Amino acid sequence: MDAPFRNGRYVRYACSVLADCGACSLPLDPFDLASRAGIMLLPLSRVESYPLWVPYDIADSLRMTIAVTLSYPTFCIVFRDSDVEPDRLRFAIFHELGHIFMNHYRDFPETMSPARMTDPSLEAEADAFALNLMAPVPIVDVIRYNRPQQARAAVFGLSRSAWMRRLDTMDRDRAFVDEETANLLIYIFHNYLLRRRCAACGKTFIDETQADACPFCGAAAPDWDL
Ligand SMILES: [Zn+2]
Ligand SMILES: [Zn+2]
Repeated sequence: MDAPFRNGRYVRYACSVLADCGACSLPLDPFDLASRAGIMLLPLSRVESYPLWVPYDIADSLRMTIAVTLSYPTFCIVFRDSDVEPDRLRFAIFHELGHIFMNHYRDFPETMSPARMTDPSLEAEADAFALNLMAPVPIVDVIRYNRPQQARAAVFGLSRSAWMRRLDTMDRDRAFVDEETANLLIYIFHNYLLRRRCAACGKTFIDETQADACPFCGAAAPDWDL
């Protein structure tokens, strides 16, 4: 494998999952995405209530990580449902979905077997997939350009350190986004990016004209939703 960054495949896979999953606002919801993809998410507390079902020591592997994937008989992601920060849990589930969507289980079954040590390049690819799903380069670029004060970790549901990694890898990943893909993603998030709410009359609208006034009551500078 041309590891860990097989010619930006993780960027293209993340973009096409975004285009297919029906998401239209941020932060992305990993539970929603998994259910659309037919992948079961199981809280550890439930697994521990029927331990005989589990093929290996899940609780032990979860002591080091937040989520693990069982690939047999069907894909199922077990996640810690106590003592974990929401941002870290969200990223961990998207990381596991990255292994599945990037076909790591199909292409590298030996490496992904639970008894094996993890492969750093596959882990890096799953991380890069998660970042590009949660904070796609074209959307981060648009927000940083138009609403720079909003370009921060919380908007994307990232932890502070994951957001720093996102910023550090923008140039590397931008090289893999063609114009068509960028336009598609901006189209998908169009309403989310342009939604405003008028404090005076309480109405919301999509600001196509950039007139900086409420189209209903004329009040100036309505708030951006984002
Ligand atoms: Zn992993
Ligand atoms: Zn108004």
